[in-house]
Amino acid sequence: MKVFDCLIVGAGVVGASIFNKLSRIGKSALMLDKASDVATGASKANSGLVHAGFDPIPNSLMAKLNVQGNQLYPKLCARLGVPLKKCGALVVGDSPEKIDNLFVRGKQNGVKVEKWNRQQIESKIPEIADGISVGLFAENAYVVSPYLFAIALTDEGILNGGQVALEEDLVSVKKVDDVFEVKTRKNTFFAKNIINSAGAGVNEVAKILGAEIFPLQLRRGEYFVFDKGCALDVPCTVFPLPTALGKGVLVTPTVDGNFLIGPTSELCDGDAITTAQGLSSIKSKTNLIIKNLNFCHAIREFSGVRVVCGEDFVIEKSKAVDGVITLAGICSPGLSAAPAIAEYVLQLLGFENKEKDNLKQIQPYVMFKDMTKLQQQQCLKTNKAYGQIVCKCEKITKGDVLFALNRPLEVHSVDAVKRRTNAGMGRCQGGFCFTKVVREIMKARNIQYEKVLKENRGSEVAVGALREVKHD
Ligand SMILES: Cc1cc2nc3c(=O)[nH]c(=O)nc-3n(C[C@H](O)[C@H](O)[C@H](O)COP(=O)(O)OP(=O)(O)OC[C@H]3O[C@@H](n4cnc5c(N)ncnc54)[C@H](O)[C@@H]3O)c2cc1C
Repeated sequence: MKVFDCLIVGAGVVGASIFNKLSRIGKSALMLDKASDVATGASKANSGLVHAGFDPIPNSLMAKLNVQGNQLYPKLCARLGVPLKKCGALVVGDSPEKIDNLFVRGKQNGVKVEKWNRQQIESKIPEIADGISVGLFAENAYVVSPYLFAIALTDEGILNGGQVALEEDLVSVKKVDDVFEVKTRKNTFFAKNIINSAGAGVNEVAKILGAEIFPLQLRRGEYFVFDKGCALDVPCTVFPLPTALGKGVLVTPTVDGNFLIGPTSELCDGDAITTAQGLSSIKSKTNLIIKNLNFCHAIREFSGVRVVCGEDFVIEKSKAVDGVITLAGICSPGLSAAPAIAEYVLQLLGFENKEKDNLKQIQPYVMFKDMTKLQQQQCLKTNKAYGQIVCKCEKITKGDVLFALNRPLEVHSVDAVKRRTNAGMGRCQGGFCFTKVVREIMKARNIQYEKVLKENRGSEVAVGALREVKHD
């Protein structure tokens, strides 16, 4: 019987950060999730910003972990080979007083911030809306792919001894002699500690554990994604002044070269859907910060759900069940704070943050199109699959797809391949590559067409064969 030091429920960016850290300090960790991949909750559908940290209430856990997390990102992404772009963040408005308040807050949080006048703003953002007169600029703000970050943390965690169990539904948990016996529909696991980082599912998991329940509010944020060719002259993230509902509808470049316009903030029941009302409100709100945005460049809409618990993160040891740590209300800036949250959880567990010697490094995702000429030639010599284009919009080759399917974490969904390679993220949104990716998954996993998932269980891409067709 294997007893893990820690079992993490929830494989979002927070769970993956904790998992990675535990594996690096030599603790045995199992991360389980009900979904078919990591980062399918809030961690796949957000603005992808590593916030500088000027916004959270000073001295809150959120402020502390945001600023620490921000500082950890550059080194972490360099190690994992995850692209991170320092583009800076600019809050704009017409109230010098509100910008002053944000400036003071930023300084209290230890963040490098500058006050800008209209002329300075215009020189950075030529299309800034006419009503904008003042701004606050923070240079230490980044954009990252939130899912690629979580995937890389997980892959590296597995290489260094961690285990991941996907499509696992928790059924019951009981504690016998200081060891939790965790039953899922498929397996039984044993662990000394349980970390509940189940995002929107935190209370559902807490009930099974017998731990504390928290009052949560779910807020949906909807977005437009603009095509890479939209020629928008916005080199940094542009926010309106924050309100009680959050950071507001922003315009930001993504690390992949697209633009995100959003998010809204509406109370919801947890469904990550887009609505006509939400999307049209984005259009009217962005007009207040950027002029002449042409929504014809939108190639996709999506939404994510924030899990809010009051004004701060809740990260604490359960008083009801010894050995349980709960993370509730990890809303924005949870992505930014995730690496620091992992270190904070280590402290709560009483583990020293001392990494093992001889840790293994993952091979980073480098798509064929981003390789040097020499690398491309070498790849083509050994693997002809790099000579076949799968996704025309994003120029992703079959070799890139196969690379994604041969990583430490085994996946079998089209969206999992999409998150790893960007195949399907271009202008045609998978119209050309979808079936090609399905075929590669079938071959790699040796499964029938109808077993391939788009995302989670229940999203099988086909229900059965109409007739037999011989594939090459
Ligand atoms: C619209 C929006 C914009 C945002 N923008 C930013 C931003 O720009 N910068 C930033 O720093 N933060 C941002 N955030 C916040 C950030 O996305 C979250 O803080 C972060 O993703 C939370 O990660 P998590 O791992 O806690 O949760 P999640 O990613 O939701 O992961 C929870 C996991 O738990 C699993 N789970 C749930 N129930 C169970 C169960 N019963 N059994 C097993 N598994 C279970 C789920 O499948 C899921 O994989 C934004 C959030 C939203 C919604």
